[in-house]
Amino acid sequence: MVSDSDIIEYAYKNALRGNALDRETVIALLEIRAESVAAGKLGEAARKVAAEITENSGRVWASIGVDYAPCPVSCHFCSFGEQWGVVREEYRWSTAEIVDLAKKFLYGGAKWITLRTTEYYSLAELTALAKQIRQTIPGNYGIVANTGELTDQTARLLMSSGVSVIYHSLRLREGIDTGLSIKSRLETLAAVQASPLDLAFLVEPVGSEHTSAELADAFLTAMNYDASLTGVMARIPVPGTPLGHIPVVSERRLAQIAAVTRLAAGCNAPDICIHPASLLALEWGANVVVVEVGAIPRDTGNSKKEWNNFDLETAFTWFKQADYKVDRGV
Ligand code: SF4
Repeated sequence: MVSDSDIIEYAYKNALRGNALDRETVIALLEIRAESVAAGKLGEAARKVAAEITENSGRVWASIGVDYAPCPVSCHFCSFGEQWGVVREEYRWSTAEIVDLAKKFLYGGAKWITLRTTEYYSLAELTALAKQIRQTIPGNYGIVANTGELTDQTARLLMSSGVSVIYHSLRLREGIDTGLSIKSRLETLAAVQASPLDLAFLVEPVGSEHTSAELADAFLTAMNYDASLTGVMARIPVPGTPLGHIPVVSERRLAQIAAVTRLAAGCNAPDICIHPASLLALEWGANVVVVEVGAIPRDTGNSKKEWNNFDLETAFTWFKQADYKVDRGV
C-alpha cells in the first residue's frame, strides 16, 4: 500500500521538476486528513517548493470592490445576490476614491491592484478606471480585472486599457450554487487563454460541502486554462444567503488545499494565493495574500477599511514570519 509519505515525496519531486500532477495524486493529497501529522509534512514540502519556484517572494494582491450593488445573478454564497436582499443601499466608488486606494496599496507595497465588480458592471467604466490608474501611478505592478463574462474582443479591450491579469474561475458547483452556466464561464476562460492576458483562477468558494474530487477538478480546470496564479479561497458564510448556514472550512484544511495546489501546479502557476489570509498557509507554500476594501461579496460591509482587519502591515509581518521576502509592484 502506498503511504501518505510516499505520495507527498512523489508530489514534491514532481513539483521540483516543474511538472503538473495527475488528478489521482491531487485527490490523494487532498484526502490526507487536515489534522494529521502527514498534512504538516505536506505543508513543509509545499513550502520548500514555494522557495524554489517563487525565489522565495511573497506578494500582496490588493482588491478594491468597485460597486456595492445587487447583482441579478444571485449566486448562493454572495452578499450581492439581488434575491437575498442583503444590499439595500447601492454605492459605486468614484474614480478619485479608487485611484487614492490604488495609490495607498501600491505605494504601500502591493504587487497587484484588482478592480472587482459585479457581473454586469460597465466595461467602459472599468477600462476608464484601469487607464486612470496606469496614468497616475507608474510601476511594475499588475492591474487585475475581476468582472463579468468576456469575449476575445472585450478581453483585448481591457488589455489595451492597462489590465494585465483577469481573475476568473469556474466556481465550485457552477450552475448549481451560481446563476451562471458552466458554458459561459468556460467561454470567458477560453477568451482569456487566447489573449496575452494572464489568468488568475482560485479553487473557490470552498466550503465543507465540497469533496476532494470537486476541488481537484476545479484546480485542474485552472491548469487547463493556463492560470499563472491559483490557490484557494474559502466560502465565507454570509447570513441571509442560501449557503449562509454552512460553516467555513478550517484554517488547516484551507492551508492544506493551498499546499496541494502548490505541489500540483509545479512551475506552471508560480503564485499560490490563500484567501482569507493565513500564516499557516504561507508556512505551507502559499505566497500571495489578499488585502481588500470596498464592496466585498463575502460580507455585508462597504468601506475603505481593510476586510477582516487584514492590512498591508499584517501581510508583511506574516511574510516575514513565514520567511518570505516581499516583491513590490512600485
Ligand atoms: S458572485 Fe458575482 S455573479 Fe454571483 S451574485 Fe455575486 S457579483 Fe453576481
